[in-house]
Amino acid sequence: MNVADSQRVASALEHLGYHDTPRPDDADVIVMNTCVVRQSAEDKAYGRLSSLRPLKEKKPGLVINLMGCLVGVKGSERLKARLPYVDVFSPPSDPGPLIAYLTQGQAQELEQRETVRRYAWMDGDLMLPASERGQQVSAFIPIVLGCSHACTYCIIPYRRGGEISRPPEEILSEAHALVAQGVKEITLLGQIVDRYGKDHPEYPTLAGLLTRLNAIDGLERVRFLTSHPNWMTDELLDAVASLPKIMPHIEVPIQAGDDQVLESMHRGYTVQQYRDLVARLRARIPNVSIATDIIVGFCGETAEQFEHTYELLADLKLDVAHLARYSPRTGTFSARRLADDVPDAEKWERFRRLEALQEGIAGEIHARYLSQATTVLFEEKVKNRWKGRTPTNKLVFVESDADLRSKVLPVHITWTGPWSMQGRVVDPVLERN
Ligand code: SAH
Repeated sequence: MNVADSQRVASALEHLGYHDTPRPDDADVIVMNTCVVRQSAEDKAYGRLSSLRPLKEKKPGLVINLMGCLVGVKGSERLKARLPYVDVFSPPSDPGPLIAYLTQGQAQELEQRETVRRYAWMDGDLMLPASERGQQVSAFIPIVLGCSHACTYCIIPYRRGGEISRPPEEILSEAHALVAQGVKEITLLGQIVDRYGKDHPEYPTLAGLLTRLNAIDGLERVRFLTSHPNWMTDELLDAVASLPKIMPHIEVPIQAGDDQVLESMHRGYTVQQYRDLVARLRARIPNVSIATDIIVGFCGETAEQFEHTYELLADLKLDVAHLARYSPRTGTFSARRLADDVPDAEKWERFRRLEALQEGIAGEIHARYLSQATTVLFEEKVKNRWKGRTPTNKLVFVESDADLRSKVLPVHITWTGPWSMQGRVVDPVLERN
């Protein structure tokens, strides 16, 4: 989400005649976009911010813009007092205050504007930064802003505000603009992306939106994330299964494999319901790959409850598990009302056990690709190898002197490991074209 938001700021600045520089020393404007989903992210943001302070002292005309979840949607008075060297404070997804500051010399009052309008400030005239135009193969489009679910551990609803779906015309016109600038793959974003349109009955469902994106000429692939188990309808699963450009990869977090922990997280489903969902995904979408998120060491999580999570992951054998150690976030229900009572060493221990388990599972799943052919969309060259992804979102590296950027090519897999694979392009004629 922040990558997408940052790109919008870059685009806005280019509209004003600015261009990017890799050197902070050269910059007239520095935008720092922040995440606070865990304490470590917040600490990093403050650390990076204080490293900008000497730059500002050396060059008083430098404009420093703090953006994102560190600022949030509820005003920035306290931050202003704490960070006097920051010139502009912007909520998530909103280049508006910076643009107002640069054009009128003052930061705009944010609170008066509707979130969804903040996002539409460019009316579909989204441009990738010049340095990325024709280079960037894969781009993000946020389609649901904010979140209203209120998982007890999560700070996002407080900082990004309530759930709002963006109008479909806006999303489609952004998609067309990105494709015209060379983008081949679009990933639709939302905290609960499968709730798209629930707040606006006149909007299409996510499946309807996917159908319209599938019809865009020149667009090769579409993905979406993150899903919540309760909102994955058969209509959506069938859209993924039947529309050729929609990739068979689903990101659907479980967070814990124990019913009591799920209840105290306020997730809204049981382990059995998640198991049924995985079965349904596998039955309806051939070769589907499934990624999940897990938080270990949530308030009150006993050793036995953690074992339930371990056993569930061992049993389901999902493709990817994004792991996190519980981190209390100011203002959330769990930080206010539940004790963070799993010691840090124990959180690490649980984290490492799941990590080792998942490494084995991913290695096993990837080994099935060995000596098989798959299609890869190539994104960029890293050292001397081209990097791309399979439809199932597996990372593939191919050594080649040809320019493979933006191409979708058949690849024969020659090596697999738990985190990536290697292969060679099957048809050298195709590789040349
Ligand atoms: N809405 C999305 C993304 C939420 S943030 C979703 O449902 O997945 C991404 C991940 O960060 C979450 O899935 C969760 O696993 C993790 N996370 C969120 N809050 C956290 C916290 N307080 N401590 C540790 N991990 C957290």
